[in-house]
Amino acid sequence: MDDLITSTENGLYCPAGDFHIDAWGSVGRNIVTHGHSDHARFGAASYLCTRQSAPILQKRLGDVSIDARDYGDVIDINGVRVSLHPAGHILGSAQVRIEHRGQICVASGDYKRQPDPTCAPFEPIRCHTFITECTFGLPIFHWTDPTIVMADINAWWRDNHAAGRTSMLAAYSLGKAQRVLAGLDASTGPILLHGAVVPLVELYRQAGVTLPPTEHASVENAKLHRGRAFVIAPPGALNSTWVRKFAPFSLGAASGWMRVRGFRRRKAADRGFVLSDHVDFDALLQTIKETGAEHVMATHGYTTVLARLLNDRGQRCTIINTRFGDDEDEPIEPAALAESEGAA
Ligand SMILES: [Zn+2]
Ligand SMILES: [Zn+2]
Repeated sequence: MDDLITSTENGLYCPAGDFHIDAWGSVGRNIVTHGHSDHARFGAASYLCTRQSAPILQKRLGDVSIDARDYGDVIDINGVRVSLHPAGHILGSAQVRIEHRGQICVASGDYKRQPDPTCAPFEPIRCHTFITECTFGLPIFHWTDPTIVMADINAWWRDNHAAGRTSMLAAYSLGKAQRVLAGLDASTGPILLHGAVVPLVELYRQAGVTLPPTEHASVENAKLHRGRAFVIAPPGALNSTWVRKFAPFSLGAASGWMRVRGFRRRKAADRGFVLSDHVDFDALLQTIKETGAEHVMATHGYTTVLARLLNDRGQRCTIINTRFGDDEDEPIEPAALAESEGAA
């Protein structure tokens, strides 16, 4: 029964339907869960994804053949019933439900359970086999209510504004940046976007997501809005000289990794905001329970920790080695987490 999805050198594969999921390398039909670069890769003959994901894939992969479907549509692929369901991760993100001869397998891609105004909420699906990520699959990872996190970010902006400092926030350009933007109080001041964030924010607007007005974080705007603006930039841009034109500024970072004290220090951020587009540990276990799955397959993150924990509880959990990475930032070795504030 587990042969419904197997692990190949190109990633997850369904032999009965002859298609891959989030594959790498040259494959035929590829079902893509979402637009992050470790899941949406070049090389497939054709792509199947959600309607909301299609423009992101097009932007990322260029002129490839895309079959875009609505959440819940049932597609017959060589006798296998395939449907896409909300994963709550980023705009258009989907879980892939596969049904064949009474067996149901769900590949969740990346997902979260917290409310996010920029994408459809995660939908738990009953299945026999559940394929899950473990990006934050350690007990120290526990998320704060996002409403509280956004209130903290807005208060930080007001304080900086009063002190004549620009608020410079590092946030992953696809998903996190838009989620933060949606929660910003635009009455505080102007919101500027790094050039890498601008086109992705436009895609969200085109998809009907309501976001406050923004301007490009150009040299002119840096001067014009000095000390008042809120700037959103990808983490990499903040290690470059680009940030200097916004001085004086306070540097913040929004990521699940901000739960770890040492990480914030390495990023040289003045403020770390714990905000993740992945499930925390409790939500991961809760989700596995809600699926009712007999077999859990762990794809990336702290897979060994999850497998040990579930196996100890008598639940079958196996690890599949994939090339999926971390779209929040670089992961941290479990040993380095000993000094984490969350461990207390
Ligand atoms: Zn992702
Ligand atoms: Zn991922």
